[in-house]
Amino acid sequence: MNRDEFRRFGHEIVDWISDYFDQPERYQVLPDISPGDFAAQIPKAFPEKGESMSEIIGDVTGKVAPALTHWNHPSFFAYFATSASAPGIFGELFSAAFDVKAMLWRTSPAATELEQVVLDWLRQMMGLPAGFDGIIYDTASVASMHAIAAARESLGLGIRERGLSGRSDVPLLRIYVSEHAHSSIEKAAITLGHGQESVRTIGSDSEFRMNTQELAKAIEEDRKNGILPLCVVATVGTTSTTSIDPVPVIAEICKREQIWLHVDAAYAGSAAIVPEMQGILAGCEHADSLVTNPHKWLFTPFDLSVLYTPRLEIMRRAFSLVPEFLRTTDAESVRNGMDYGIQLGRRFRALKLWMIIRYFGREGLAARIVEHCRLARVFAGWVEESTGWERLAPVPFSVVCFRAVSPQNDGESIEEHKNRLDALNESIMLGFNSTGEAFLSHTKLNGKITLRLAIGNIRTTEEHVNRAWNLLNEQRARFVG
Ligand code: PLP
Repeated sequence: MNRDEFRRFGHEIVDWISDYFDQPERYQVLPDISPGDFAAQIPKAFPEKGESMSEIIGDVTGKVAPALTHWNHPSFFAYFATSASAPGIFGELFSAAFDVKAMLWRTSPAATELEQVVLDWLRQMMGLPAGFDGIIYDTASVASMHAIAAARESLGLGIRERGLSGRSDVPLLRIYVSEHAHSSIEKAAITLGHGQESVRTIGSDSEFRMNTQELAKAIEEDRKNGILPLCVVATVGTTSTTSIDPVPVIAEICKREQIWLHVDAAYAGSAAIVPEMQGILAGCEHADSLVTNPHKWLFTPFDLSVLYTPRLEIMRRAFSLVPEFLRTTDAESVRNGMDYGIQLGRRFRALKLWMIIRYFGREGLAARIVEHCRLARVFAGWVEESTGWERLAPVPFSVVCFRAVSPQNDGESIEEHKNRLDALNESIMLGFNSTGEAFLSHTKLNGKITLRLAIGNIRTTEEHVNRAWNLLNEQRARFVG
């Protein structure tokens, strides 16, 4: 592509993206399509000869964009709402242009060092101790898997060298999580060869926080049975309700029992940059590792997840493997990103985070997080004041768990009433989402189908939240009358 074409198409794409953000509601948040509809528009045969860039861009804007679920839509309230901010998009653009593979310091000096600098900024903003080093991974799932591999390495069982299979000298290793922990921990156990049964689920209290007495008992019982604790995973901001496990107590148990403590703060960790909210990470200063996802609530385009650990050397011990063709004569002190994970080449993700933090400043980022929490409290207030709805969990951050209710009918059993409310809420959610105006998702709390309204998009205003509330009430009226 020649220079003039590159400029012309580059400007065209940036103009298109600018219009996309100017009218974020131009597309339905959920596209009105069925599986296979999109692929049917794309030729099955690959192009033998190159096509014109105009035609390709036309297909992206004309075919791909309308068939996407729009995570940038301000009425995206499902899962954890996220958004790509402008400086983050520019960071991605530069990063794609540089196309560095940040595996060795030598292959990417600025990428390697910027990662260290920007992660130290974020560490300071979150109030984590100075000894915590950060490493960027793509996702929290992958970061947690690496943390658990490091926890395993810390046990000194020679698993890196001799593996697990066929060994009678390795006891069953146990990972403890609350019943509200993210499924990524179980996937890590599967991937690392420990199996799903190595994950022991601990119950939670009425506010969905890990029951620490049950944790202590489980560890004692396992030890009696010859099972060796591998790590405890505490969550700050659980996926269903954003509850915060009692990390200070869990940390004490881990210290006493000498067990690796991994904290999953994938969603809520970002909130610690708000000075008044820094208490959410109480006890995390004792963690052996902690993951947080700027791609969730720090306006960073997907993907960018950060793992902090005061035990970086163990991560290195678990993963460093240097073949001759990657050996360098650089000083021992330089960091080579490939030493801390299974990937060799690594994207230059730090650039977008650096640009975002510089553009907004801590203050600007924190103000948006505070506003999202305010909007969630406003919505929770409407739920609480209404007789047709109930709130099902506390609202420590920007997610509200709630459901529609209607009184038990004469002659209806408790079970029948519960099933009717579950069906009612499923219908409300499907009806709400099918409007294409807004999107929310659900979970199950105490066996009840629970709707979740998650606020996290940089373009969401009170008007969007208000519209969602009206839509919910319209849907409820359709089914309850
Ligand atoms: N941990 C928690 C608490 C989460 O809520 C999520 C995703 O929502 C994850 C981990 C997984 O995140 P990722 O998509 O970055 O792997």
